[in-house]
Amino acid sequence: MTGKFLFGLVASAAIGIVLTGTPTSANENIEASISAVEPRVIAWREDIHEHPELGNREVRTAGVVEAHLRSLGMDTIRTQVAHTGVVAVLIGGKPGPVVALRADMDGLPVTEQVDIPFASKVRTQYKGAEVGVMHACGHDAHTAILMGAAEVLASHREDLAGTVLFIFQPAEEGVPAGENGGAKMMLEEGVFADPRPDVVFGLHTSPMEHGTLRVRKQAAMAGSDRLKIVVTGEQTHGAMPELGVDAISASAQIITALQTMVARQMGAASAPSVVSIGKIEGGVRGNIITGRVDMLGTIRHLNPDMHEDLLRRIRHTAETVAESVGAKAEVSFRTYAPVVFNQPTLVDQMLPTLRRAALDGKVITDGPPAMGAEDFAYFAREVPGMYFHLGANKPGVPFGEAAPNHSPFYYVDNGALLTGVKAMVNLTLDYMALNPAADDAGAE
Ligand SMILES: [Zn+2]
Ligand SMILES: [Zn+2]
Repeated sequence: MTGKFLFGLVASAAIGIVLTGTPTSANENIEASISAVEPRVIAWREDIHEHPELGNREVRTAGVVEAHLRSLGMDTIRTQVAHTGVVAVLIGGKPGPVVALRADMDGLPVTEQVDIPFASKVRTQYKGAEVGVMHACGHDAHTAILMGAAEVLASHREDLAGTVLFIFQPAEEGVPAGENGGAKMMLEEGVFADPRPDVVFGLHTSPMEHGTLRVRKQAAMAGSDRLKIVVTGEQTHGAMPELGVDAISASAQIITALQTMVARQMGAASAPSVVSIGKIEGGVRGNIITGRVDMLGTIRHLNPDMHEDLLRRIRHTAETVAESVGAKAEVSFRTYAPVVFNQPTLVDQMLPTLRRAALDGKVITDGPPAMGAEDFAYFAREVPGMYFHLGANKPGVPFGEAAPNHSPFYYVDNGALLTGVKAMVNLTLDYMALNPAADDAGAE
């Protein structure tokens, strides 16, 4: 225990030296490798951007990733994990912890409107209609960044004090109807089984200032559930509502009651949550009271401890309000992802590394959590995790003046990729230095 503690201090001191501007030759070599890989990272990113693929269909992208990993001589490579995922293990020359690095590979059914030479012209079938496909969430950049980090780490494998698990994940944005996929399915297929990581890191591009990083302790992104409510009443004439049960009127009361429930029953600070009904369907004409209404909605929460309670209250509210007017509400949930939880001690430990990687050392730590969701949450629920955002606006464009993720105008500047590679490589090396193998610590 004491020995381990002392070793940690020594390792911290060593990193401290680097931070104060006296890089060791090993670090100079790493920095040189990172700079050297940048043009290739840009080329991969442009190629993947031009050829986007939807969730569970990332066949070409996975092929590009696999070919690259094979060229690096990884110790093991698994393909077709959760349909199209690629997972590789790099065992370093010295013992140490297992660091997992994750990138997502899928695009979105969005028609690109950005004026760049490598803009996507891909079209495909989605839910029975032809749509454009675009990397409108920057997953092309995430994939290229992790390919670059893999190359740098593989070229220094003899110096690595630990093992790296590279996870190229399909279907972060969702799966085609009737299919499973994403982070949850990768875990079900044993991606964390052997070797079991000690930590997992992931990043996401964001319309923030060029090269800025943002990280947050605890809830980084919201947990998300899909909500379905089917209200059943009894059809009758529009002029004689008393002869039936009006499902539309019951639905209106349920929607209002749900909003009141969130505002009056969930703590605004301890259990911030959102319930939104985004789709409602029922009835055929004005003078027929319908006996059925279907509602679809989304539920977001930031406190993992309140998740069960929130769902229980939604079900209770919908069922009892329906019952009070003689109707019936059938409530069902489908969880997309739990809260993305950043372990506070891990964020503290890695903050100096992020500051070193960020352009001009700019790391934002006091931003609010994002109400968007990310299935990285499943990985970070298994082992301590840290998920952070990379500002990828054109240089000089401030936060708030660039198109958001999922917009047909969403744009990731190539210049920001280098910051991403620096962050992933240095998080791996610094985590290994700060958390040495137990045997090493014992030998002190
Ligand atoms: Zn997205
Ligand atoms: Zn995304």
